[in-house]
Amino acid sequence: MIPFIDLKKQYNLIRDDVIAGIDRVLESGHYILGEEVGELDRQLAEYTGVRYALSCSSGTDALSMALMALEIGPGDAVFTTPFTFFATPETVALTGATPVFADIDEKTYNLDPVKLEEAIEKVIKEGKLKPKCIIPVDLFGQCADYAAIRVIADKYSLKIVQDACQAFGAKDPSGKVAPSHGDIGCTSFFPAKPLGCYGDGGAVFTDDEELYKKMYSILVHGRSAEDKYDNERIGLNARLDTIQAAVLLAKLKLFPGEVEKRQTVAQAYMEELAGLVSLPVIQPGNLSVWAQFCPRSAKFAAIQEALKQNDIPSARYYPIPMHLLKAMKYLGYKEGDFPVTEACAKDIFALPMHPYLDREIIHKIATVIASVVG
Ligand SMILES: *Cc1c(COP(=O)(O)O)cnc(C)c1O
Repeated sequence: MIPFIDLKKQYNLIRDDVIAGIDRVLESGHYILGEEVGELDRQLAEYTGVRYALSCSSGTDALSMALMALEIGPGDAVFTTPFTFFATPETVALTGATPVFADIDEKTYNLDPVKLEEAIEKVIKEGKLKPKCIIPVDLFGQCADYAAIRVIADKYSLKIVQDACQAFGAKDPSGKVAPSHGDIGCTSFFPAKPLGCYGDGGAVFTDDEELYKKMYSILVHGRSAEDKYDNERIGLNARLDTIQAAVLLAKLKLFPGEVEKRQTVAQAYMEELAGLVSLPVIQPGNLSVWAQFCPRSAKFAAIQEALKQNDIPSARYYPIPMHLLKAMKYLGYKEGDFPVTEACAKDIFALPMHPYLDREIIHKIATVIASVVG
């Protein structure tokens, strides 16, 4: 079986650096908030062009920290996409706020700004919830339409929490690097993400000093700036391990080159699969980091079966839209509420995607797919 994401090939390139980094942490004895964590935060801020980056224990905790810092809670409406990973609406629900979904754009799979504004208007008209925040998700590595979403956020005085858990390093037409597009940006360093560590990890990003200070406090049980035993708010234990910070410092050196390589791989897929499946669309001016390569086809099940026969793995992101999940049932949505999302969920599938994928294998994948749909 060829790997869906080849982390071993990457490891072979950075092995010495990773082992030396981990050894340094083990020798230092500073396993929690060691020197590497501060250095990583500095490099993450520099890479994305934000004033403050703060690494944490996962993308999920990054979202929680962001929502807690914005004091989102019961009675608040948080607008997001139903076509995402569950952590997005889950963290909203954890604060006691209500996730409110708006349908996606068929081409980019990201939040449709027109539908978003309709959803906000509806909540205002109903008068039960207070619109507070938008969480656009940069699905599969491509930025949402932040130019349009920012206009809407300003019009209704809403904050933007960018869920760039799949899109660290992506760019939108403004040239800004994800996750620098929101009031707070969140990313994940889960191993399979474009920039992953060897365990769980994540980070929050902001230009706002006050929000940064709040998140710094939330990261460590709501500590005060001066004294960690003087707790001034309810927080979390959401620190990134020093060992994972060392791993990420090694991987960051490789990352810009890997983003380039991902473009080559995606382009090869685009060429090889043209006319066979419905291809993902990258909007002009966007640079995707191609966390996933997800085409659509009515014959996806037969394609997946044929790929499996040829020892080629595939996956499906995401077969069940958020509004139809059992855990979200209490929100009262039903099938038919978000037709674009529901149609996508029915026939989207994911092919192997990583920087070290050979053209040969991509050609083989295309040949197998052609044998099914041709
Ligand atoms: C992976 C992911 C998360 C959660 O990140 P973890 O590090 O796994 O907690 C949140 N949102 C999206 C869109 C993701 O893909």
